[in-house]
Order: sequence, then C-alpha cells, then structure tokens
Amino acid sequence: MMNRTFKSGESREQPSLLPPRIEDYVGPDNPVRAIESYVCALNLAKLGFRHADRGVEVGQPPYDPADLLKLYLYGYINQIRSSRRLEREACRNLELIWLLKNLKPGYRTIANFRKENWKALKAVNRSFVLLARELGLVGGSLVAIDGALFHGDASKASIFTRRRLAEQIANLDKEIEAYGKSLEDNDATEAGQRPDGHGDGDGGHGDDLGARVKELMAKRSRAQADLEGLDTSEKRQLSLTDPDARLLSKGDQTIAGYNVQSVVDDKHKLIVASEVVNSSDAGHLHAMAKAAKELLEVESLQVLADAGYYNSADLKACEDDGIKAYVPPSEGNGVLEKQGRFSLKDFSYDAAADAYRCPAGELLRPTKGRFTNTSGRVEIRYLSRKAVCAACPLRARCLAPKAAQRSIARWEHEDVIERHRARMQSADADELMRRRSAIVEHPFGTLKCRAGYRHFLVRGFNKVRGEWSLMALCYNFTRVLNILGFERFIAAVAKAITLRLHALADALERPLLAPEPLWRNVSTILRQSCLVFRLGRLAVGSVD
Ligand code: SF4
Repeated sequence: MMNRTFKSGESREQPSLLPPRIEDYVGPDNPVRAIESYVCALNLAKLGFRHADRGVEVGQPPYDPADLLKLYLYGYINQIRSSRRLEREACRNLELIWLLKNLKPGYRTIANFRKENWKALKAVNRSFVLLARELGLVGGSLVAIDGALFHGDASKASIFTRRRLAEQIANLDKEIEAYGKSLEDNDATEAGQRPDGHGDGDGGHGDDLGARVKELMAKRSRAQADLEGLDTSEKRQLSLTDPDARLLSKGDQTIAGYNVQSVVDDKHKLIVASEVVNSSDAGHLHAMAKAAKELLEVESLQVLADAGYYNSADLKACEDDGIKAYVPPSEGNGVLEKQGRFSLKDFSYDAAADAYRCPAGELLRPTKGRFTNTSGRVEIRYLSRKAVCAACPLRARCLAPKAAQRSIARWEHEDVIERHRARMQSADADELMRRRSAIVEHPFGTLKCRAGYRHFLVRGFNKVRGEWSLMALCYNFTRVLNILGFERFIAAVAKAITLRLHALADALERPLLAPEPLWRNVSTILRQSCLVFRLGRLAVGSVD
C-alpha cells in the first residue's frame, strides 16, 4: 500500500458512486426500514389522516399521508423538526430518499401536514402504546406521573398578568404626566418669548411632545382594555403571540409555554398517556391516571406522583376508580406551627365516637349541618367546649388570642385522606417514591437532554398537542426498537397484524384474505415490500 500523508476521498469525476438501485441505499437492518414497516401497517384513514381514504380523482394528487408521516417520524427520531430542514433533508439524505422513494415535498406541504393532522398524530401515538401493550412491553401495574415545562413559540414579554398590566398602566400614567408637564413648560417658555403671548406656530418641539403623549395615551387605552378583558374572562394571563402559552413556574424556573403531563410505565419507561396543559401539575392526577388505566385496560393501577399533585378531590376520584395513588401529603403553609400553636396533626380523630381528641385529651364534637368552604369542599365542623377550654392549661398554645373554643373542619370524605396518609406511612411507600423519579424522568431526560427538545415550534393547543404526540411517539418508537432489536421489532409488527387479521377472520367467520404460509413468512416479506400491510389496511383496522 502506498504511503499517504492523509486519508483521501473519492474523485468527484468518478461515475456511479451511489448504488444504481434506491433499494440499496440503506442496509437490510437500517432502522429506517422499521419506520417503513410500522407506517405501512397503520390504517391512516381510521386514524383520521387527511386524504387517507381518497380515491382516484381528476387533477394533481396530494402526497400520501403515509409518506409525510414517515418523513416526520424519521425527522423527529433524528432531531430534524422544522419543515424547511425536513424539505432539505428529503433531497439529500439517502435514508429519506429511500423512505420517500425520491419524493420531495415542499416545506409548506410538510408544515401543513403537522398542523392539519394533530388529532391523527395523537391517535397514532395512542396506537403505538396499544401495540407495545400487545407485545408485552408495558407492565400495567405501576406508573409514575409528572409534568415537564416546555417553552412555547412565545417570549415571556408577550404574556401579561393582571399585575403586569396594572404596573404597565401605572408606568404609562407617570410618563404621560411627565410629558404633560414638559408640554406646559414648553408653552410657558414660548409665551414668555413672544410679546403678544402667542407661540410662533412652527410645529417644533411642542408638536413632538404632543405626538408622544398621544402615542402613550393610545398604549394606555390598549393596556386598560386588556386589563378589563382579563377581569371579565376566566383567564388569568393574556398571551399576545401564542394565545394558549402561559407563564409557568417550577422550582426556580419560569417559562412562557406549556406543561406536558406524562404517565410513564415502570416496566420499560414507555410513555403510556400524555397531555399538554397550560397550568400547574395540581388537579391533573386523576385525569392522567384514569387515561392510563383505560388505555392499559387494567382493573387496578398504582400511581406515583410528587407533592405538586396532592389534591383531596383527585385522591378520592382515584380511589373510586381503583387507582392506588402515592403522593406525598402537602404540608400546608404551617402558619399555626410558626405561631407555636397546635395544628391538625396534634388532634386525633376517633371514628367510633365521631369526635376529635385534643392534646389535653378532651373531645371536639361535630356541629349540626355541613358547610361548603371556599374551594367547594363540603365540611363538618367540630367544636371544643368553651368551659373546658377556659380552664385548660394548654389554651395559649391551642386557641387564637380572641377565640373561646377550638374548631376543626373535617372534609366529608376525610377517610380517603386518612387511608392515603396510612399508605404513605407504609413500608413500601418510601421505596416506591424513590423509584418515582427514576421512572418518570427517563423520557423527559431523553427528550430534553439527548434530543434537545425543550421547546415547541408551533403555536396553539391543537398544534402543540400534535407536535408533542410526534415527540412522544418517537421516544416510544426508538425505545421499543432498542429493546426488541430490529429483527424482533419487524417480526412483532407483523405478528400484531397477523393476530388481528386472524381475529377478524374468526369474527366474520370467513377465510383469511391471504393463505397461512404467507403470514408465517410475513417478516421476510415485510422487508421487501409493504404489500401485506397494504392488504391488511384494506381488510381491517391494522395497527390502530
Ligand atoms: S384549649 Fe380546649 S381544645 Fe385546646 S387543648 Fe385545651 S381543652 Fe383542648
């Protein structure tokens, strides 16, 4: 071999650098073939993709939604998200040239597909979880829930709260006042310069000031109208760029964007349910846990969540639906402890007597009637006896300075809280809570740190939900492919479809559309052509 200074490339003049067949552009076990197999197996019309059930019509045909879905799936797996970049890659990336059979959709077509099919993308994401469940990759007994903040396509400055609007109006008032004073001073100066007391009317400095004051007044009117609009609506923030993005805080982080709620299964850390919201984690425990339980079709489910999800109504709803929730109890604001007074923890409930026992050993009895508190909870009030408290040596640590007796409000379903508290004090609770972050942080860590997905490219709930569905689908898809390996993944997709076709044939009491040996060898056939899946799509819902 000749000695060389550096490695040298091929000559640009050399013909046939690429294989003559597009089929040879990618290797037999290239993951792009897994994307092809999976998308070909989907019943896109049933999943709701636009144009999926289109017949032959006059005029220029649209792109097959299957091709655009393959493009997006490939793009999101390979950190290519923008429609313009996807357009470029479709022209120069050999794997994409193979996947799209040399089709080159424009960026507008690509972008519109993501916007128009947000619901269908959610459905594909769900269908993949069902496939993972069929393949036994989902445990279905223990899940963890958490929310992650993602930046929206909006800046913090484009979102206004009532306080920010009020501050803006106050600042504008100050500015207007200062300019008004300048105008008056200007007029006085001009009057002093002319013996007749009139200005020279040359439209100079005074006109500039007048225009600026008008501009500020218009700005103030807009801010005032925005503030009144917020007061009359249920919204707490006004977002000018992305109407659904909100200022959200977690720990020391504040972003303008969305909170992505995810339910992650313990077995292989797959995302089994998710939703994009624009509020905090509070109040989403039951909805997310129920969505996961229904999708997994299990009788009972253990759910782990952090203290941000602690909510009594959610805990009750979970218990009613057979969901065992592990959520660290909220410590409250600790006002009484800070004042050195007894808090609820110092009183014990005696279920047999239906009374609370105070630190002095006396009973607080229930009063007649029920009361609805400010958050809508129906409560029963328990009161101590005034005469007993008056003589109690502990009264300084128990009663408010002007109170004559102690009162405790008990939620009508407080037994739910007591059972939850006992569960959190059980031996396995500590171990489960330690596992919580390991389960739920896996997808967020992968998506945010490894893929770099920390923000959405689109605006508005629907489009953002569509984009999140693509992110979650790509996370699950890559994970399943890594767990099973290429061969087993392809065989598993084929098996899932075969089983469904058998089930359909049994149900309809009619023979299969294709002879049995064909299905046995479907794994091999899949790699050469997606004809079988096309048949499957015509015959049944396929993977849906
Ligand atoms: S003040 Fe009344 S309620 Fe409080 S510890 Fe004494 S007896 Fe019990």
